[in-house]
Amino acid sequence: MNGPRQAFEDVRNQLRNAAKAAGRPVPALLAVSKTKPAADVAALAACGQRAFGENYVQEGRDKVRELAGLGLEWHLIGHLQSNKCREAAENFDWVQSLDRERLVEPLHRYRGDARLPLNVLVQVNVDGEASKSGCAPEQAAALARAVASASHLRLRGVMGIGAPFPDFDLRRASFQRLRGVFSSLQAEFPGVDTLSMGMSEDFELAVAEGATMVRIGSRLFGPR
Ligand SMILES: *Cc1c(COP(=O)(O)O)cnc(C)c1O
Repeated sequence: MNGPRQAFEDVRNQLRNAAKAAGRPVPALLAVSKTKPAADVAALAACGQRAFGENYVQEGRDKVRELAGLGLEWHLIGHLQSNKCREAAENFDWVQSLDRERLVEPLHRYRGDARLPLNVLVQVNVDGEASKSGCAPEQAAALARAVASASHLRLRGVMGIGAPFPDFDLRRASFQRLRGVFSSLQAEFPGVDTLSMGMSEDFELAVAEGATMVRIGSRLFGPR
């Protein structure tokens, strides 16, 4: 490893190049710090990175507390259990993994009005993979309506995980389906601006297909 600064510069260059090649704006970078210690997050924050993603509510909460002075933005990107809604609503700035209606009310209630609304993405499982969370594409609009009607939540868009198809065209097609869901939500809800797709192995393709945010872990922090 060349240290976080080199990895950070490399990823940012690759993002810029991918965006330029696709004729699209450079997407936001979410640094996925799951399983990595708070010191690694602090080191990347010192390079200028602000937004970090965590998969587990408790692990994320511990880092949020430890690094509270750094002014970072925290995204929950892992499966959310309903008994963790309180800690999620109290510690994170975004929940990207909202995939069922019964999470909406507790997230809204625990967020309350003492802080800014919780930013929410609807997680969509475009490929119907049994191993992944996410609602079916046909359910996304109903879920988005439920989020949009909760005043302590702010609907921002869609999150998805590209299926690891060996075939490049199939991968592309699954990102295109996600973008289709995103576009239809955008047409219905004015605040929708975020299409979160693309990880270390497929972010260039995701950018080409219109990602506005990519979630990158191992390319920034090294293998887990
Ligand atoms: C772990 C994870 C990432 C980052 O994965 P890398 O392959 O390490 O970049 C992105 N999104 C989700 C939902 C994840 O669980």
